[in-house]
Amino acid sequence: MTTQTATLVPSYVQGAWWTPESSEGATPVRDANTGELLAHVSTAGLDLAGVVDYGRTVGQAGLGRLTLHQRALKLRDLAQYLNAHREELYELSYKTGATRIDSMIDVDGGIGVLFTFSSKGRRELPNSDVIVDGAAEPLSKDGSFIGEHIYTRIPGVAAQINAFNFPVWGMLEKFAPAFVAGVPTIVKPATPTGFLTEAVVRLIVDSGLLPEGSLQLISGSARNLLDVMDYRDLLSFTGSASTANRLKTHPNVIEGGVRLTVETDSLNAAILGPDAVPGTPEFEAFVKAVVTEMTVKAGQKCTAIRRTIVPQELVDDVVAAIGERITQRVVVGDPRAEGVTMGALASLEQLRDVRGAVDAMLAAGGELAYGTLDAPQVRTAHGQQAVVPDGAFMTPVVLTWSDVEAEAVHSREAFGPVTSVLGYTDLSEAIRLAAKGAGSLVATVCTNDGDTARALTVGIAGHHGRVHVLNRETARTSTGHGSPVPHLVHGGPGRAGGGEELGGIRAVKHHMQRTAVQGSPNLLTAITGVWHTGAARNTAGAPEFGGQPGVVHPFRKSLAELRIGDAFASPLRRVTREDIEDFAAKTGDTFYAHTDAAAAEANPFFPGVVAHGYLLVSWAAGLFVEPAPGPVLANYGLENLRFITPVPAGDSIRITLTAKKITPRVTDVYGEVCWDAVIQNQDGDIVATYDVLTLVEKENTTYANWPAGA
Ligand code: NAP
Repeated sequence: MTTQTATLVPSYVQGAWWTPESSEGATPVRDANTGELLAHVSTAGLDLAGVVDYGRTVGQAGLGRLTLHQRALKLRDLAQYLNAHREELYELSYKTGATRIDSMIDVDGGIGVLFTFSSKGRRELPNSDVIVDGAAEPLSKDGSFIGEHIYTRIPGVAAQINAFNFPVWGMLEKFAPAFVAGVPTIVKPATPTGFLTEAVVRLIVDSGLLPEGSLQLISGSARNLLDVMDYRDLLSFTGSASTANRLKTHPNVIEGGVRLTVETDSLNAAILGPDAVPGTPEFEAFVKAVVTEMTVKAGQKCTAIRRTIVPQELVDDVVAAIGERITQRVVVGDPRAEGVTMGALASLEQLRDVRGAVDAMLAAGGELAYGTLDAPQVRTAHGQQAVVPDGAFMTPVVLTWSDVEAEAVHSREAFGPVTSVLGYTDLSEAIRLAAKGAGSLVATVCTNDGDTARALTVGIAGHHGRVHVLNRETARTSTGHGSPVPHLVHGGPGRAGGGEELGGIRAVKHHMQRTAVQGSPNLLTAITGVWHTGAARNTAGAPEFGGQPGVVHPFRKSLAELRIGDAFASPLRRVTREDIEDFAAKTGDTFYAHTDAAAAEANPFFPGVVAHGYLLVSWAAGLFVEPAPGPVLANYGLENLRFITPVPAGDSIRITLTAKKITPRVTDVYGEVCWDAVIQNQDGDIVATYDVLTLVEKENTTYANWPAGA
């Protein structure tokens, strides 16, 4: 791996590594622990319009040649590749002030996001380039005109401007959903730690796994990026509220239609319930969470707990317990030294900002309850205790406030190892204090009492993107207050920026346009690749119900032969009272509607004794199945089952089964087929509707010559 010793950190644009011709005016980047000059960054002369255009053309084309599943699978391969290079990244990460654990959160956390989006993408999305959103809406009486929503990828680039605190995870958490969606990424990391992002991009490029143009990197300032973006593009920004506000007012956002989401600063809270007194597992878990959030990444986490809200009578206990835990467990110093648990802030500028924020809070009424703002003695890389003037070190600081309403504590973000402990008198005050953050990413509610958990969670949820409920049952298993997980939304309202990153497949769709499409069932089937009710069928089976001569039962077809709309129509089968009684006796389901005529007749839904719904579904399977060994390997479930018209004894049922969705698995010799199933009675009334889910071989191999040897 290349380490950039006082060289220029290159950008990766338009398919090549690029550095400016001169380093004049370039910004220096230093080791956060020692001040050693590592590199410079500059974008002087970079053709930003060319970068965006390359993404929109080459990137879009390369990604467009792959389906959603193929792209998701590439993320898995990429994650495995990066996994094998983690040690190199940790080594580099030390220079950002990160301890090994911090680096694991950043590096492994980022790789974990790739794995998650890879598996969710293949499990939850179609193997296609179109996602159908919700059910079709009938728009004409005869069903010939219908409407629905589809998602297709946006036609431009996903530009991502990131903060300095998570140079790896910060990139990968945005890149993964953009990539699955099929939208090329342009990543612009923050200057102080962008050299680590560059190392990851270099690995990605070297891996050769991704289509050309799917990832470009801008190392250095990109102040004019928005100038060359338009409505086709998406800009995801993470950083300070002041930069976000500048971006929000850019003419290309206001008038040009660039899609902008921002994740900004956040005065996150943790609330201790009144039941969680010292000695309870909740009190211990709470103190642990607060100290973890203060010290991981030296408190430089957008999710860190800035406001620790506790019952008034417990303020002293909480401050003492936090102080004791820090004293016992936190060793500040160069993360390369043995035993260090908290490294430097990312830069001297950052240190200055945090000290400035704490000074301002002290001036506004905060009192220093633990820690100091003096330059600390820290453990150096050689294991000595010393003050390192060029290292961005700071010890953890706890503030208390006699005026818990003071504006500064609810609005001033000290982006470092700092928290304020605030006392509340009742739950409504705790809720009000948490809400004074004016919109936050996350809050922890720590209680073992259900009513308290509900009151606090519901009370604050409208002000938060995520609420983490902590008690003795989750103390060991929780992923933590400060860790966004790829499955759940990361973002928050108001001051947090209003953005929504992550959140599983939601994040993929965030990079797509939802479009209403109206037309006939046949053409919507052709457009989406999903069979729609009313579209043409190729039906085998009973001629009286549409079966055509010569059409093969669809269960005899492998995925290579099966087509959307291939169907089977069964003949009628009569249901007798004996059948119903027999089913009741054998299953033990003697619910009165199936066994007691008088009681069934008194029921507003039934004409008298009716067949069990499960009897009908079981019989339907018997009616549609093609029993001989063949390409259908398994039935793995039913979805969306609805019983509509009751079936009394004497009625008959039949079923029509139609191949609705075919999803070949990119990693297996089989795929999924979802069958539209409709049970009707002798009059054509719909008795039940559902989807049958099967696994079907891509090629008819296993049972091609069955019995074996035949
Ligand atoms: P920042 O100064 O706003 O910088 C963030 C990013 O914006 C950097 O990449 C920076 O590039 C770039 N940038 C600055 N001015 C720009 C402009 N005019 N046009 C385009 N790009 C511009 O924030 P920071 O100090 O790096 O980050 C700390 C803040 O981020 C904290 O407030 C923290 O709460 C917030 N944060 C939020 C989240 C979240 O998910 N909500 C996550 C992490 C951090 P240069 O470095 O090259 O200037």
